[in-house]
Amino acid sequence: MLYTSTRNDRLRIESAKAIAGGISEDGGLFVPCEELPQFTFEDFQAFAAVDYNERAISVLSRFLTDFTVEELTECVEGAYNGKFDDDVPAPLVDINDYRYMLELWHGPTCAFKDMALQLLPYLLKKSVKKIDDGREIVILVATSGDTGKAALEGFKDVSGTRIIVFYPDEGVSNIQKLQMVTQEGGNVGVCAIKGNFDDAQTGVKKIFTSPEMRKLLNDRNMAFSSANSINWGRLVPQIVYYISAYADMVKRGEIDYDGEKVNIVVPTGNFGDILAAYYAMRMGLPVNKLICASNANNVLTDFIRTGVYDRNRHFYTTISPSMDILISSNLERLLFHLSGDDSERVAGWMKQLSETGRYEVDDDVKEKLSELFWAGCCDDVRTKQTIKKMFESDNYLCDTHTAVAIAVHEDYEQETEDVKTPTIIVSTASPFKFSQSVLSSISEVVSENNEFDILNELSVMTGRNIPSALASLQDKEIRFTNICTDENMKETVLSFLDQ
Ligand SMILES: *Cc1c(COP(=O)(O)O)cnc(C)c1O
Repeated sequence: MLYTSTRNDRLRIESAKAIAGGISEDGGLFVPCEELPQFTFEDFQAFAAVDYNERAISVLSRFLTDFTVEELTECVEGAYNGKFDDDVPAPLVDINDYRYMLELWHGPTCAFKDMALQLLPYLLKKSVKKIDDGREIVILVATSGDTGKAALEGFKDVSGTRIIVFYPDEGVSNIQKLQMVTQEGGNVGVCAIKGNFDDAQTGVKKIFTSPEMRKLLNDRNMAFSSANSINWGRLVPQIVYYISAYADMVKRGEIDYDGEKVNIVVPTGNFGDILAAYYAMRMGLPVNKLICASNANNVLTDFIRTGVYDRNRHFYTTISPSMDILISSNLERLLFHLSGDDSERVAGWMKQLSETGRYEVDDDVKEKLSELFWAGCCDDVRTKQTIKKMFESDNYLCDTHTAVAIAVHEDYEQETEDVKTPTIIVSTASPFKFSQSVLSSISEVVSENNEFDILNELSVMTGRNIPSALASLQDKEIRFTNICTDENMKETVLSFLDQ
């Protein structure tokens, strides 16, 4: 499988180079430029008989064709064996006769980012070796909360790598912040930034593509890469769990015939997770609708409904902070595919986006968007009502992001009257990661204000255990207290590297 850039379709590279590089030098993202692998019903039946690791190796091997199966096996076993607190990494939980929660938060940092970020360090190390580049890799991350911690945990003390994470000072939950500022490891750096996630992401992208910074790193025998979902090595592992979920349904006898379609509902921010579902669909997973759920930052809802992307709007800080995003990077990949691999058109839209904050796609793309997707959004009040309702009527405790997906799915049912299609709702974080908001949704008064007392109260009230990775934060030392502005991110990076 060869890859090209969304902004230069003449480029051809192998996956190791795409993973090691993170982003294309033209500012575009790497995408497969050949026919995607195809899975038939027989393939899903075969997947049903094997475990998650085997499913993962099989999917990965079709995308990362410059890796051997032995190499991929080593990567997958390193990533998933013994790291997850459930028997399987991505359990599919039955809620009622047609709704299923795909729980992706049983990894070490309690959010779905672990599914890819436990694997990425292994893929990246092998990629760097393959392209025979002796340089030290510097991973730069902009995070809305969960990616930062998951990347730090994945890359800590991985030889030949360093990692620097920027998070919005006022834009993450207390637990998320504690997870990052207490991060252990000799090769890690964490810095708050005055601004929101978009500021952090734009700053990081600028550093990546700055010739001056590239040169400064080169002089130190280092090179940048990315652990954000702009990295292709983040997306492939995410395709796996959709394939796996359908295989689980086949295994349980919940798919009645060859080709029976499902809906997939994804709480969305940077459009990485739902894009992976789109790839799974193109590979033969039978999908009725991909349902894109947003919080009050509903730029994607409007885009999918109208074809106009307009980020010139208020940025809300919500109780689902990992979705507080107005520039969804991975949408660029979808646009590339929907426009018929037309990098010139994509580059034009992206130029308009950076110059005016707005673009409108053509009718052919609009048509495909509405054929494949349905989109909705949900504010904080409704999010909290949904958490309460799910807990009381379905005995399911969900986090704020997952609640957004559940609420938007309700709207979808109302509007379309489709209440029969089996539906996979992606559950992206442990409720304990957003304990304050979750507890105040199901309890009239929250008397505690210490973060760890809140965790305990939520546990006592719901009878669920606090994930040990969160409980143990209490005893950890705070290591990182620096704050910078988007103007001095470059200096911050250099000072970390010179330590
Ligand atoms: C990152 C994240 C999302 C959004 O995923 P994208 O791939 O950025 O769309 C949703 N929920 C949680 C808990 C997350 O951490």
